[in-house]
Amino acid sequence: MEYDESVLTQRVDDVDQRVCEAGRGGHRMTFHCARCNTILGDSFGVCGEMKSLDSIMCLRVTSDVVIGDVMEPGHKGEMANCFYSLLKCRSCFSAVGKVIHSAPSRLATIRSLFLLDKANIACYILDSRSMVKASALTFDLQPLGPKIVEMSQQVKAKLDHMSHVKSRLADGSVTDELDK
Ligand SMILES: [Zn+2]
Repeated sequence: MEYDESVLTQRVDDVDQRVCEAGRGGHRMTFHCARCNTILGDSFGVCGEMKSLDSIMCLRVTSDVVIGDVMEPGHKGEMANCFYSLLKCRSCFSAVGKVIHSAPSRLATIRSLFLLDKANIACYILDSRSMVKASALTFDLQPLGPKIVEMSQQVKAKLDHMSHVKSRLADGSVTDELDK
């Protein structure tokens, strides 16, 4: 993808109503590190928005998103009692989001999804060739979003179970595990 840097920089702050609705209207866009413009994901990977965390929920991101060490859970705020890792931009090491590994039930449905911080993400909208702040857009994909999240959880649960069975088989300790 080629674009003129100077035009993009100009338009980052030039947000009008038309652009505000871009996320909602199903426009195709790429997600970039707000600091260095590295591509971190795209709209095909989006499955909704987590308003309480001001984050875009993504099923997948590019290999330029680095998953950090697991953080100890805190006791306050939205992330209370959650084990999570920060997501960082591979190019400039800015924190660009987080992924939750384990969480209380209120956040259970977004475990293992990539949560990109809207404050640290810029969006390049392909149709209008404009770069805007993610915080100016909404990414609600109702009612499909929750279904995809639910499906991804189910797939993950199956995978977890399969790898558990596989490891039990590998050490030869169990055979009846397959019946579950
Ligand atoms: Zn960056």
